[in-house]
Amino acid sequence: MSHAWGYAATNGPDKWAENFPVANGPRQSPIDIVPGEASFDAGLKPLSLKYDPSTSIDILNNGHSFQVTFTDDTDNSTLKDGPISGIYRLKQFHFHWGASDDKGSEHTVAGTKYPAELHLVHWNTKYPSFGDAASKPDGLAVVGVFLKIGAENASLQKVIDAFGAIKAKGKQTTFPNFDPAALLPGCLDYWTYDGSLTTPPLLESVTWIVCKEPISVSPEQMAKFRSLLFSGDGEAECCMVDNYRPPQPLKGRPVRASFK
Ligand SMILES: [Zn+2]
Repeated sequence: MSHAWGYAATNGPDKWAENFPVANGPRQSPIDIVPGEASFDAGLKPLSLKYDPSTSIDILNNGHSFQVTFTDDTDNSTLKDGPISGIYRLKQFHFHWGASDDKGSEHTVAGTKYPAELHLVHWNTKYPSFGDAASKPDGLAVVGVFLKIGAENASLQKVIDAFGAIKAKGKQTTFPNFDPAALLPGCLDYWTYDGSLTTPPLLESVTWIVCKEPISVSPEQMAKFRSLLFSGDGEAECCMVDNYRPPQPLKGRPVRASFK
């Protein structure tokens, strides 16, 4: 891989290990979650998510996905309990999606792919910053939420309405007063396992919390995700699609369920 990482044949997930050898490490993500092989753990607490809409700052096309960024200098938007100890602050959320509705999620459930997956990224406040936490085994906690084709999602539409301003790589616009809790499913039952970032540098620092219940997205909304571009202004237009890493080997890791 002689150039920057991406999702094409020449620089995609199969090539990442050339520059990031941890790609073949012991706790890589995503994984295929096999519900019948996940063990119910009565000791897993319910998730405690407290999000303050005033902490939402901006939305950015980073050339791999788009992300909504939050101010994280206070404990105003946090994740606690569930499988983790201490307080984790929300840093950003982003999505992964496919070129068509039959693929796009990173995690799969017994081999089933969803058309998209939302990742809400939090960092452990026992460390001084996101950057410090990102390399620690207990540094990050990411809540994953599957998107399933169905009714239009009004909360998601607020995000989609910003796409016009962030079509190309590097574009950014303000995105104030957004409540990420509006993107969560009604039921917060989850699977959890120890894993990694799913993009380079693929650091093995993530406690994954994958919600069992998907949220809905309409086919028209899903199509708008695909109108974003991997490419920057002045480059050949390249639609942002299939920005997901496929499931990685479990390598003996336990997957626990918060529900029976
Ligand atoms: Zn992600």
